[in-house]
Amino acid sequence: MSVLLVLEERDGRVSRVSWEAFAAAQFLGAALSQPVTAVVMGAQTEALAAEVARKHAGKVIRLEHALLKPYTPDGFSIALEQLVKAESPTHVVFPHTYQVRDFAPALAARMGEVLISDVISIGDGPVFTRQLMQGRLTGTYRHTGSGPCFVSVQAGAFRAEPAAGVSANDAAVSTFTPTLEAAQIRTKPGEPFRGSAQTVDLGSAQLIVSVGRGIKEAENLTLVQDLATALGAELAASRPICDNGWLPMERQVGSSGQSVAPKLYLAVGISGAIQHLVGMKGSQCIVAINKDPDAPIFEVADYGIVGDLFEVVPALTEAVKAAKQ
Ligand SMILES: Cc1cc2nc3c(=O)[nH]c(=O)nc-3n(C[C@H](O)[C@H](O)[C@H](O)COP(=O)(O)OP(=O)(O)OC[C@H]3O[C@@H](n4cnc5c(N)ncnc54)[C@H](O)[C@@H]3O)c2cc1C
Repeated sequence: MSVLLVLEERDGRVSRVSWEAFAAAQFLGAALSQPVTAVVMGAQTEALAAEVARKHAGKVIRLEHALLKPYTPDGFSIALEQLVKAESPTHVVFPHTYQVRDFAPALAARMGEVLISDVISIGDGPVFTRQLMQGRLTGTYRHTGSGPCFVSVQAGAFRAEPAAGVSANDAAVSTFTPTLEAAQIRTKPGEPFRGSAQTVDLGSAQLIVSVGRGIKEAENLTLVQDLATALGAELAASRPICDNGWLPMERQVGSSGQSVAPKLYLAVGISGAIQHLVGMKGSQCIVAINKDPDAPIFEVADYGIVGDLFEVVPALTEAVKAAKQ
């Protein structure tokens, strides 16, 4: 019995969302007292497997075949079906990416199961929580099938860090070669989809100051920009700020914006709607400034300042500047 984690490659490395799925699989494995087996897929997976082995003390499987590059939904689902049948895991965990959306439902269907997609949290049971009706409702799902439970994890829902106690370089790496024929692959892939070019990569920012509707006017943004500059942080925002055109869309954090996981996320005048939280709750330290003590942002904040941002932010900027002198 094990939890199988299927990692995804991006530019020759394990993608960040895969590490978040790794955290989810570790959490699930710990809850079920089962080891986690990590899978890397492709035509040449040695470097990827070595990258995983540096962070994962459990088993790593290289699912390797010349026909697994480039990616095709047929190749991936046929190869993974064979591996899943050989390993008999209780759960198969994926990051919720475009590629996973493409092949994982087909894989689950091949095995008489469904994919519980876009999971934002895992509870006792285990039960899996996902958002419905564009984030207005959440639903919890329990697997009742006889086969493995297939789950994909939403970006930003888990922190991309190995669970405590995992020591590097202890992984046992093995190779699984699926039986795959060119005639089984019915599609000819084009260029992989890339999101629109972004000049700001909030996803890899270490420090983020994020501003919400509490700022009231576009002219007041200089207040938070000054704080971001003093901290050496990127400036981000909730959706209304970007919808108003006060900041570019690429700075929006949330379910319809970017997912971020910085060391520090400072939320200024942001209420903490679920659509915002899913994009930033993987941050290591969340500091919230809000005048409403009952604002939902305080439920995820590590530190909260209940106060008027127009007083708190300038004082904080001065304090940061003074501390840096
Ligand atoms: C399908 C869908 C997708 C969405 N996607 C996203 C998304 O990607 N990202 C996103 O952010 N939202 C998204 N939303 C919108 C989301 O539901 C919220 O409406 C939005 O996050 C609220 O933004 P806010 O917190 O800035 O504003 P508000 O909810 O209006 O909160 C403003 C906060 O500022 C505080 N405040 C006011 N004045 C002050 C002051 N002087 N000092 C201190 N605090 C003050 C208030 O107490 C309040 O908590 C989406 C919604 C839908 C339906």
